[in-house]
Amino acid sequence: MEPAIETSKTLSRTQLDRLLAAESELAPDSAPGEAADCWLTTGDWRVYARPRLTGAPAGEEIERFVLPDGSAVAAVLDRDQSRPWIPFDLDEAYRNYVSEAWRGGLASRSLSSWKLRAYYAAKPLMPRRVQIAARRVYTKRLGLPEFPAWPLDESVLRLLRFYAYCLLLAAGTETLEFRWFWPGKSKAAAILTHDVESAEGLRLAPELADIEEERGLRSSFNVVASWYPVDEGILRDLRGRGFEIGLHGLRHDHSLFTTHDVFQRQLPEIREAARAFEAVGFRSPSTHRVHEWLREPPLSYDCSVPHSDHPEPMPGGGCSLWPYFIGDLVELPYTLPQDNTLFTVLGRTTVDDWLSQADAIEQRHGLIECLSHPDPGYLGDPDKRAIYAELLDALAERPQLWKPLPRDLAAWWRQRDAGDPAADLSYGTMRREGDGPFAALEPPG
Ligand SMILES: [Zn+2]
Repeated sequence: MEPAIETSKTLSRTQLDRLLAAESELAPDSAPGEAADCWLTTGDWRVYARPRLTGAPAGEEIERFVLPDGSAVAAVLDRDQSRPWIPFDLDEAYRNYVSEAWRGGLASRSLSSWKLRAYYAAKPLMPRRVQIAARRVYTKRLGLPEFPAWPLDESVLRLLRFYAYCLLLAAGTETLEFRWFWPGKSKAAAILTHDVESAEGLRLAPELADIEEERGLRSSFNVVASWYPVDEGILRDLRGRGFEIGLHGLRHDHSLFTTHDVFQRQLPEIREAARAFEAVGFRSPSTHRVHEWLREPPLSYDCSVPHSDHPEPMPGGGCSLWPYFIGDLVELPYTLPQDNTLFTVLGRTTVDDWLSQADAIEQRHGLIECLSHPDPGYLGDPDKRAIYAELLDALAERPQLWKPLPRDLAAWWRQRDAGDPAADLSYGTMRREGDGPFAALEPPG
């Protein structure tokens, strides 16, 4: 039997790291359950997976999960083999979060395909204030989602901490190490990304770059390839100053994700645009997405999947505060509420929502990823840009935050996963806390 945990000081991958790559092997003898995917609930945490209804060994109960029909299944520590038996497959639960397969367990909040088409057909004809009013009404009518929690969802964090607790029980120890999320002793990471919606937005991009550069920060500007005239001189200038250019689709509409055929037909043009922009990152227009297709463009990373973003035309989220792999692609989920959500849809006039979310993510050692726009109506407006500058001030003042370009963060996640000896890998600590079932995940000391 393979040891459940590796504890050596080498740069090896621990079981917890394998879960982050959806390759954990805690219970190799236990295949996914036979029943259909459903919610398994304990307290305020829930997992979407196929429950294992039979095969539980005798042993000490770790945690009890309630199924939709009111029956329960328990995670059990089998003392003889000293390994936990978990009533669902951990990798499946993890994938069902990040791929948004949990949608199968909830009534849809998305606009149907024909409503989206109607929306995009009518949008150019609507004055902006009408568009905004419609978004406000729509968001208010829907209210807060049942799942994921907004703005912060702890589902993936809970899964990691639950798994860590099980590993500690199995090892009969109070602490174990795991590959830390970020380089060296960084407590958390922060990246800044911008989607450029118009030629005017691109014209304003260097001004936004100025206020970042003044604070020693850099960001990515994601440009739409065939939607407005792209000033190559601005792209060159931004690149020369250490900023990153990414791709924000070919056209800013729903067309890319209408059918897989259409998606694949656009791939050569996407490849060509990425080459022309020197782009390795992609954000889908209006964050439309089909999880499985995102890996197909020849790019290094995608950043279209929200952590939790319900006011979007495609609401939802992957619930993760960390990057993850979709095939060979690194997904960098955006984790702060978007600028238009806060300032336009919700009418906020301070930086408070951004700061409290950034604080919460830093405390949980996750990725702070801000998605904003340089365009008029967004950070192109002086009042909104002033609020953004307050966020930048707060981030710039925190040396414990690692603040790379998005493409460098994606490269780091690959190095971390591969255990690259050239990378600044370090170990965090999983620590038992009380009676469980969640362990603490602590940064390197
Ligand atoms: Zn956009």
